[in-house]
Amino acid sequence: MNTASKMLFQYNLYFFFLTLTAIISVIVAFGAWQRRKTNSVSEPFILMMLAIAFYAMVAAMEAAATALSDKIFWSKLEYLGSGSLITLFLIFAIHFTNKKRWLTSRNTVLLWIIPAFNVAMVATNEWHNLIWTGFLLDPHGSNVVIYRHGIGFFWVISCVYIYTFLGVFLLTKRALLPSVLYSQQSKIALIGALIPLLGATAYMLGLTPPGLNVTPMSFMVTGLIYAVSLFRFRMFDLVPVARDILIDRMSDGVLVLDVQNRILDINPAAQNLIGTTALLIGQPVDQVLSKWQHNVILYHEHDSVKTEILIDSATLSYVELRITLLRDRRRQLTGYLLILRDITQRHQAEVELRQANERLRLQVLEIETLQTQLHEQAMHDGLTGLFNRRYFDSSFPRELVCAAQESYPVAVILMDIDYFKKINDTFGHQAGDRVLQVFADLLLKYSRSSDIVCRYGGEEFVLALPGMTLNNAFQRAEQIRLSFQAARVKFGDKEINTTVSGGICVFPDNAKTGDDLLQLADKALYAAKAYGRNCIKYVR
Ligand code: GH3
Ligand code: MG
Ligand code: MG
Repeated sequence: MNTASKMLFQYNLYFFFLTLTAIISVIVAFGAWQRRKTNSVSEPFILMMLAIAFYAMVAAMEAAATALSDKIFWSKLEYLGSGSLITLFLIFAIHFTNKKRWLTSRNTVLLWIIPAFNVAMVATNEWHNLIWTGFLLDPHGSNVVIYRHGIGFFWVISCVYIYTFLGVFLLTKRALLPSVLYSQQSKIALIGALIPLLGATAYMLGLTPPGLNVTPMSFMVTGLIYAVSLFRFRMFDLVPVARDILIDRMSDGVLVLDVQNRILDINPAAQNLIGTTALLIGQPVDQVLSKWQHNVILYHEHDSVKTEILIDSATLSYVELRITLLRDRRRQLTGYLLILRDITQRHQAEVELRQANERLRLQVLEIETLQTQLHEQAMHDGLTGLFNRRYFDSSFPRELVCAAQESYPVAVILMDIDYFKKINDTFGHQAGDRVLQVFADLLLKYSRSSDIVCRYGGEEFVLALPGMTLNNAFQRAEQIRLSFQAARVKFGDKEINTTVSGGICVFPDNAKTGDDLLQLADKALYAAKAYGRNCIKYVR
């Protein structure tokens, strides 16, 4: 094969690769277009890929053309391709790095003005020869044209470099951000961008075969890298913008750990909760969270765990920690996602609620106790502890109903202390009280649990004795009377001795109602008093 035919073969190869570049770029653009709904980057990305396709296609045409005028025509179109390409690349980088707000319509116009001016300059080269000062046919006989470059060319190249460097700078900055979730994407975007830059530089430095601009072809590599990351790694399915907005500005703390529990990613809210501004990426999480005294990663059996941690006992600050196990498609553990939420306020509210509940419970208990006491007091006499008249009036009729139903007698004994006024007058009121208490104790001593023993008022007492006949009741009353007569009530250094009189009647023999029975008993009592006191009388 002679040199000329070798060169021809080589340039057919260029044509082939350039066409391939165009095809790949179109496929990538199409793939991105299909995914356009899930991200905001796709629009400039699609246009950029189309610009690559155009650039490569035109370069292919230039390689294939034989006539010099045709070659120059395609070369001019190449500048249109590269001009749009660099501008779209910068716009893509701006979008991708979440700096979209820079792209006001004024700035967008400014971005496009320079490449447009350059394209105009190339198109009108015949008038000023600023881009190309002349053309040289390959001395080896291939159909390659060697362009002699004028000052304008170097201006255009400078523009290309400035735009590309700006884009690369933005991507590098993002790729270096301590965020594993998205830095991989940025790194891919960056590598894709660097390859044509290397190609262009090689062409500029004369490292490529003379006359052959490998820049469009190096874009094929870019297209391939982007295609793989787009289709295989779902490059834009999660957009960096989502991370910035959702994760960085989240009020919940987010931590991503690898399988060795080292921190891979952390958002500002998590840093805040942990209470440090130090760079925590790469550090073991146990160490970072050691002051929380909580072994975070103990939960391998469940894919998701929620727990509450006291992070500061002084301020009673609580954090809710949710751990989600991250798995790849083969269900292999790849790391952990930790979500931290400050629940101090909720906890505080819960504690306060519990305290309020407890207070309420105690209050209810106290009210119940008071109610019971009140009820007791309402039924009892404060001085003697016996039931009072109110109780007698309510329970005695009930007792009579039972007695009537079951046909048993009920004896009623009414007793009144003799000359009680005299005791008060002689020994004082308190001494009188003491006598009343002693007599009450005596009544209880001689009564059964079924008996109703009441202080009916003043120094008057009433006993209702279910099942007791007149005879038995009389004996009981006599016992009480004699016992009281024998009693010596001590009051200070004095001893008080007094007696009691009583009147008895029996249900149902003497009367059937409570009122009538009391009246009859009172009558008998009156008779006892009249008889001379210290005796028991009954209704005959
Ligand atoms: P009689 O033998 O006729 O029953 O004479 P008496 O003095 O016992 O009867 P009277 O009804 O004249 O007096 C009863 C007195 O009991 C009048 C009252 O001051 C006194 N008294 C009533 N309740 C109490 C009390 O709770 N404590 C004391 N210390 N005295 C009382
Ligand atoms: Mg009396
Ligand atoms: Mg009396």
